[in-house]
Amino acid sequence: MGSDEGPLQVESSVAPPVLNCPHCDGMLPLGLGEIDCALCGSKVRVDHAATRRQWREEKLACPSCSKVLIAGVEERPVRIRCSSCDNEINITAKAVKVELACPACERRLRIRPRPGSRELTCPACEEEFRVTF
Ligand SMILES: [Zn+2]
Ligand SMILES: [Zn+2]
Ligand SMILES: [Zn+2]
Repeated sequence: MGSDEGPLQVESSVAPPVLNCPHCDGMLPLGLGEIDCALCGSKVRVDHAATRRQWREEKLACPSCSKVLIAGVEERPVRIRCSSCDNEINITAKAVKVELACPACERRLRIRPRPGSRELTCPACEEEFRVTF
């Protein structure tokens, strides 16, 4: 009981929109507020009222006592406290995935978008191809 296993974690189910940088047109790191473009270094203010509202109203089950909590805050990641068991809970940002098709065999791949370009290897046909966000 007194053992410290680190904070409890719940993944948010609400993702902010995937947006492109107005300066270089590359993908911006996901989030709201002041975002630094990972590709050109510009600071971009991103806001999205619908995402903020969904974050504030998001219901999450406490991983310790299962009580359903309303997040009540408009940020992710964020730490809240369970009103029932008093544990602290980290609400982590949703892991966004996008689906794309292998250019060789058209197998659908689900990957986490990241700004910039990188090489992927198709798990089905081992074709290597480059994706850019
Ligand atoms: Zn940029
Ligand atoms: Zn709890
Ligand atoms: Zn393939």
